[in-house]
Formats: sequence, C-alpha cells, structure tokens
Amino acid sequence: MESSNQEVFLPLLTQKKVSLFIKREDLLHPFISGNKYRKLKYNVIEAKNLGFKKLLTFGGAFSNHIAATAYAGKLHHFKTIGVIRGEEIAAKWQDNPTLQFAHENGMEFKFVSRAWYRDKHTDVAQKELKQEFGDFYRLPEGGTNSLAVKGCEEILTKGDATFDVICTCVGTGGTIAGITNSANDNQKVIGFPALKGDFLKKDICKFAHKENWELLSDYTFGGYGKLNEELISFMNDFKQQTTIPLDPVYTGKMMFGILDLIKQDYFKPNTKILAIHSGGLQGISGMNMKLKKKNLPLLLQ
Ligand SMILES: *Cc1c(COP(=O)(O)O)cnc(C)c1O
Repeated sequence: MESSNQEVFLPLLTQKKVSLFIKREDLLHPFISGNKYRKLKYNVIEAKNLGFKKLLTFGGAFSNHIAATAYAGKLHHFKTIGVIRGEEIAAKWQDNPTLQFAHENGMEFKFVSRAWYRDKHTDVAQKELKQEFGDFYRLPEGGTNSLAVKGCEEILTKGDATFDVICTCVGTGGTIAGITNSANDNQKVIGFPALKGDFLKKDICKFAHKENWELLSDYTFGGYGKLNEELISFMNDFKQQTTIPLDPVYTGKMMFGILDLIKQDYFKPNTKILAIHSGGLQGISGMNMKLKKKNLPLLLQ
C-alpha cells in the first residue's frame, strides 16, 4: 500500500525557496493509523503463521499502538490483551477515549503499576502474563521489532527518490530505522524525537543498516505527551492554513521543528523535504480532555 504525498503551501516556504511535502500515512487506514499499520503488518502475518490466537502488548492509556493493535486484532480474528501502565486507570478507563475504543474492539486490559510496567520484560512478569493469559504473540511496547521495521521499510517508495531530506517522528525508533533502510544514500533522514533520552540512538542502530540519519532533539516540548500553548496554537494554525491535522504527541512537534528549521535557514534553497505523517490522530480527543482540565486552549478536531 502506498500513501500520497501532499504539497504544503505556506508563505515561509515560498520565501525560503524550500518545498515541503507530507506523506499522508495518516490516511492509510481509518483506525490502524500511519506507522502502526506498517509496524503491525508483518507481525500479524507472523502471529497467524505461528498459530497464535492472542496478541498481547503494552502501552500507556493514550497509546496509538494500543488502539491500533485492538483494531488489527479484531480485523484478523485475534483476541487482544493490553497491559496498561497505571493501576489507577482501572477505576476510570471508561473516561479515556483510547481505551474505550480499544475495549469496543475487543481488547481485554490488565492494569499494572508503574513499577510492574518498568519490569515487564523480566521472567517474573512474563510468567505472570503466561499464567493469566496462556499462549500469546507478544508485541513490544510501541510495536518495534525487526518485523515492524520491515513494515516501515515500505513507507518510502521509488517515487520518493527525488526528495533531498526525509523527516520523521521518533518514539521507539522503529519507524526511522525502516525509513533509513529504504532511503537512498544521497538522502538525509532527520528524526524528531517526541521524548528526551539518549537510549534512542542505540535502539535505532539495532535496526538501521545505514548511517544517513540524525536526531534533532530540540523539539520535544518538555517530554512525551507534553505540550504548551505555543505548540497548540501552531498546530491549530497549521490545520487552518493547510487543512492537514497533526497529532499532539508526534507529528505536531515534528512539523513545528521542520518549519522552525526552515525559518533558521537550516535547509539550502531548493531543498525538497518529505515529512512523514505517521498518524496518531486518535490521540487528539484524549489530549483535549487533559487540556480542558488544565484550562488550556483545545486542539481543533
Ligand atoms: C508510535 C508513533 C510514532 C513513533 O514511532 P516509533 O517507531 O516508535 O519511533 C510516531 N508517530 C506516531 C503518530 C505514532 O503513533
């Protein structure tokens, strides 16, 4: 499957003589959005081939990966189990749009403490899951493994060879690894992390076979899932000017970063930039709930 590249028209781009296209991976599937579709594709095939009936995975309460796994499970006739970070959510998950959606699509939840979640890879935790749920195909948090990277290698297509720079969001690093592997050697891949942390580089190197990538970490806005009024108004303006919706955790921060770099003449005139819209729009409702509580302006839906 191939998604279309949409050109963005903004006065800044004309002024700086830079062209910007957005690969609309957010439109790949209505419920298995963007890179989560790519990351689940070969894992679902593998789980079927190995004869598993259940998919089990991990995530926070607003996770795009949790929502995508629930829907993909329903579509491909798997039972799905979501191990969710935060015991306190057990009492109020019905108020959370991501978990509501996952539940409606058949996902069963196990709510665990933050300490348990941190230790989810230990033998003790694995044993507990096995006792509780029996046999299952395990998808890691954020869905990154070698089959996920293989799926992300299909994001770029032959026609994308004309771009000089490819920009992508980075969470666990699977997506940028896949994109780097399929980019040409003369293309530069720039990753915009949505969270702070030095672990990312190492994680990306596990899966990326090439070195034509770099991370620009100045646009995390204080960390994972955090945003401020400047980012909110940027995202709302961008939506009004281009009609393209951005998500608050990943693509909003990346796009802010790309336009900021263009302002600073980071890219030479005539540079052709392709930004990957990795989806995540399901997260807007949940984020608006949080913004409302804090009396901050809301994101346009
Ligand atoms: C999960 C997600 C990412 C992060 O992808 P990684 O492969 O974990 O780096 C980026 N953008 C969106 C919209 C996501 O949902």
